[in-house]
Amino acid sequence: MPNLRAMSERRSLPIWPLMRQLRGPDHLGLADAARSPQTEAVQARTDDADAVVGSICPFCAVGCAQRIFVKDGEVSHVEGDPDSPVSRGRLCARGSSTKELVAGPARQYHVRYRPPGGRDWQDLDLDTAMDMIADRIVETREETWQDRTPEGSPLNRTMGFGSLGGAALDNEENYLMKKLFTALGAVQIENQARI
Ligand code: SF4
Repeated sequence: MPNLRAMSERRSLPIWPLMRQLRGPDHLGLADAARSPQTEAVQARTDDADAVVGSICPFCAVGCAQRIFVKDGEVSHVEGDPDSPVSRGRLCARGSSTKELVAGPARQYHVRYRPPGGRDWQDLDLDTAMDMIADRIVETREETWQDRTPEGSPLNRTMGFGSLGGAALDNEENYLMKKLFTALGAVQIENQARI
């Protein structure tokens, strides 16, 4: 049997998969014999990460597990965590795009406010925004407070505002929001709890 590798190298030709099948142990061409030099040279895009941190996708209540790859102090990639019994390494399109939450050009770093009737958004500092929200809650609560039903039964509630939580909120945040809004007298309190 001629030395095919030597012949191939002499001619500067690649070793063809069929030759590797005939020559090596992978006669069916299902493993090493089918790997091309290009495949051998491919590197995972996460190979150069400095650290990997476990996390949970913030988008919906499924709670798929993630591996956050960090390079030079920045999030470089987000992948599904194969060790998770919930998602077993999978992420949907939203979960796969989580990196954009922290590194995307559309990320907002300021409170954005559009006044009633306004067409443009403007920046607000956080203290001003918090005061505006608090003022409106107090005012609405006073205007819409219900002590009792017409028959005299106690109500102690307001139907003037409620809370609609998103899936990006975690269990602890939902707990605090439920506590706050119940204490304020709100009745409509919803969330998409992440457990
Ligand atoms: S990866 Fe998709 S399904 Fe999983 S938690 Fe995120 S948004 Fe939900």
